[in-house]
Amino acid sequence: MITIEEIRKEFPLLEGLNQDGCKLVYLDSAATTQKPRQVIEQLTNYYTTTNANIHRGTYDLAEKATRDFEKTRTQIQQFIHAEKPEEIIFVSGTTEAVNLVADSYVEPILNAGNEIVVSAMEHHSNLVPWQQLCLRKNAKMQVLPMNEQGEIRLEKLADLLSGKTKLVAVSHISNALGTINPVKEIVSIAHEYGVPVLVDGAQNAGHHRTDVVDLDCDFYAFSGHKMYGPTGTGILYGKEKWLEQMRPYRYGGEMVKAVRFEKSSFKELPHKFEAGTPNIAGVAGLQAAVAYIENLGIEYISEHSYALLNYATEKFLQIRGITIIGQAASKSGIISLTAKDIHPHDMSTFLNEYGIAVRAGHHCSLPVMEFFKIPGTTRISFGIYNTTKEIDYLVQCIEKAIKYFA
Ligand code: PMP
Repeated sequence: MITIEEIRKEFPLLEGLNQDGCKLVYLDSAATTQKPRQVIEQLTNYYTTTNANIHRGTYDLAEKATRDFEKTRTQIQQFIHAEKPEEIIFVSGTTEAVNLVADSYVEPILNAGNEIVVSAMEHHSNLVPWQQLCLRKNAKMQVLPMNEQGEIRLEKLADLLSGKTKLVAVSHISNALGTINPVKEIVSIAHEYGVPVLVDGAQNAGHHRTDVVDLDCDFYAFSGHKMYGPTGTGILYGKEKWLEQMRPYRYGGEMVKAVRFEKSSFKELPHKFEAGTPNIAGVAGLQAAVAYIENLGIEYISEHSYALLNYATEKFLQIRGITIIGQAASKSGIISLTAKDIHPHDMSTFLNEYGIAVRAGHHCSLPVMEFFKIPGTTRISFGIYNTTKEIDYLVQCIEKAIKYFA
């Protein structure tokens, strides 16, 4: 069994010292994870051994680049247990995946008076595209509420669904609260009303098992950079039956079969959604990230996340003045907190002095902050490289901050 020290050695950035000579304590993996050496080396490896444009050249190098790119598609398909590689669309991230579904699937079927349901805890990426679409189409966005623990009120879902509803869009895990949502149940209820479901899996894919067939979701969106892979990579999974009937999202080279000045015809899945030159190097890096996760084992990663969550939660509950925002029964390795009336930005600036990187603010989830009537939180989020020792150090520094600002 690999030790945490061995894992940490694989992340070059964690080895370095900051300007004050402190080792970095990185607790912002929900924003983006650090990258293991395998991913970083794969990027260089791609450019030094394989670089060529894909799906067009007939020479060996281009064919190798294309083969590797398509191999990654199959690897991702298996990673999320999708049925076919054609259901995997490479995009730049969760944000683009959601916008793709908004533009290509929902927009053409959304009429005035129709509805889209989102949850009360969505990241802006899975809220604003729906809100803007509803505004454009004179449709209505319905909000599935949450309770004071930061849990979705599942019993309210059926009341929001009707023949008018065109989509339910919900996060698998809230980036602001850490809540793991009952996605499978949400999908099952929505399907009883014939409504498809898009799941924002940005905070799940790198940390817990993802099985889109078991969830039976219609779309699943996630980002490579939150699962130890490169920035600018992401995946939209869609059930073939939806992707087939959807119009392309962007138009250009390599997504067309035939082009005349009057009209064009488009390629089959998945290529009709991948216009232009994709992030080939990034996808190569993503391949290494998924291999890295699979090598460690997603169950191992998931258990590590729960262990750190439980350890830190217990510690925080013992500090007077700390309130954990989001106390759902089912949580992932994300803790949002407030400390007395210390502004989260003051807290994070203070912690930065001790080499600790945490996120402060609204975490692109302003409605969540409004619900809890707070300006923001200090958010601690874990990756596979974090240790209980780092949590002890964080707790000490937060206690110092509370004294300092008293
Ligand atoms: N959804 C959730 C739950 C997120 O945490 C994030 C990133 N913070 C996003 C969507 C957007 O991801 P990206 O910026 O990679 O597109």
